[in-house]
Amino acid sequence: MFSKILIANRGEIALRIIRACREMGVQTAVVYSTADRDAAYVKLADQAVCIGAAPPAESYLNIPRIISAAEITDVQAIHPGYGFLAENAHFAEVCRSCKIEFIGPSVAAMAAVGDKVECKRLAKKVKVPTVPGSEGSVDDERAALAIANEIGYPVIIKAAAGGGGRGMRLAHNEVSLRAGIAAAQAEAENAFKNSTVYLEKYIEHARHVEVQILADHHGNTIHLFERDCSLQRRHQKLVEESPSPLLSDETRQELCAAAIRLVKAAGYTSAGTVEFLVDNNQKPYLLEVNARIQVEHPVTEMVTSTDLIREQIRIAAGEVLSYKQKDLRQTGHTIECRINAEDPARNFAPCPGTIEQLRVPGGPGVRLDTHVYAGYRIPPNYDSLIAKLLVHRPTRREAIATMRRALSEFYISPIKTTIPLHLQIMDNESFLSGHMDTGFIERTMLAK
Ligand code: ADP
Repeated sequence: MFSKILIANRGEIALRIIRACREMGVQTAVVYSTADRDAAYVKLADQAVCIGAAPPAESYLNIPRIISAAEITDVQAIHPGYGFLAENAHFAEVCRSCKIEFIGPSVAAMAAVGDKVECKRLAKKVKVPTVPGSEGSVDDERAALAIANEIGYPVIIKAAAGGGGRGMRLAHNEVSLRAGIAAAQAEAENAFKNSTVYLEKYIEHARHVEVQILADHHGNTIHLFERDCSLQRRHQKLVEESPSPLLSDETRQELCAAAIRLVKAAGYTSAGTVEFLVDNNQKPYLLEVNARIQVEHPVTEMVTSTDLIREQIRIAAGEVLSYKQKDLRQTGHTIECRINAEDPARNFAPCPGTIEQLRVPGGPGVRLDTHVYAGYRIPPNYDSLIAKLLVHRPTRREAIATMRRALSEFYISPIKTTIPLHLQIMDNESFLSGHMDTGFIERTMLAK
């Protein structure tokens, strides 16, 4: 096992990784930008190195500075968390060429699943169903129109290098498709420095269901069941839960088996997530593979009593998985609410600033992953996620009651957050009955 690792990230995930390391007896070093000087995780780590100014390009995305910090602190491995450099194959390569283990998949596996177009090709080979669409990139309007005529409208234009719900455009007809293609290419070039776009059939009233997997270097690949992430706003997840309500056991088994086939074919190791859309008839379609730990990983940890961060570190150190497929169960029900520093009344505009008053929820069945405290200043430079509130109860109904109770205990002032929206969701009839899809929030709760 490593004796010391560097965490190349910030916020709640940096804290989560420190916690796993502490329990494993592994020392931690963190990097931080000047905007995060007062962050709690900087104080909790065994060592901390300031690597630059607040803009990510000068700190959390700056590979030479992170590698220098790793050398100064003399670590054996780097955990990239999620976002920033987590899915950057070049960074993984640089780490390993400096004899520092990158806690994640191999460069080849990252490449095999990282490009959405390539990943779909691999999926077809191993008979994992994909969304009907272009076989590869779509270069111009003419090609796009031909494909759309074949698969039928509505279609969605997606950036091959996209992520975080960005780089997607819906087209209901020829006119909007014509207008969308060039705009989507320009947007993709701007946001991801890669103008490649592709086309997919837009699956209406779909649920987003993803399968967590773990694979070690000894040929063991397991799944840890699914998370339902259908509650979204602008293609970004708001609420996640497990098990997925309304998913038949047959579909669940089909998804889990397909996820394992796909990651095995990619030679994938470490933790990863295979994302699917499931339509009204329980028909699944592969969306993409996320070659990293995800924000919502604690949902799986709670419902399966596992520690995914610890497993990632153990896998990177060459150890055998701690869990066997036959021993894993989904026990009870878990729900996670993402608490963002955003103002629902102002179209979810980010709300940075100082938290003056804070009361955090607790009690039976509650887990709170957060890096904030009273007096903490939320910097304007990064993602607005400030906390993940999770509950674990024997049934979904009880989990919702506990979540409602925990959300009402949670008090943050004067920063505006998504807590009021979550309280509304917990009282929504469709949500209570488990009938929701990825467009549900926008259609029913934000329309007015
Ligand atoms: P990203 O990598 O940006 O997160 P994904 O491909 O994972 O993008 O898609 C994110 C979300 O966008 C999905 O959960 C879903 O809500 C929506 N989406 C993406 N592709 C489709 C599709 N073909 N049909 C319907 N919704 C889609």
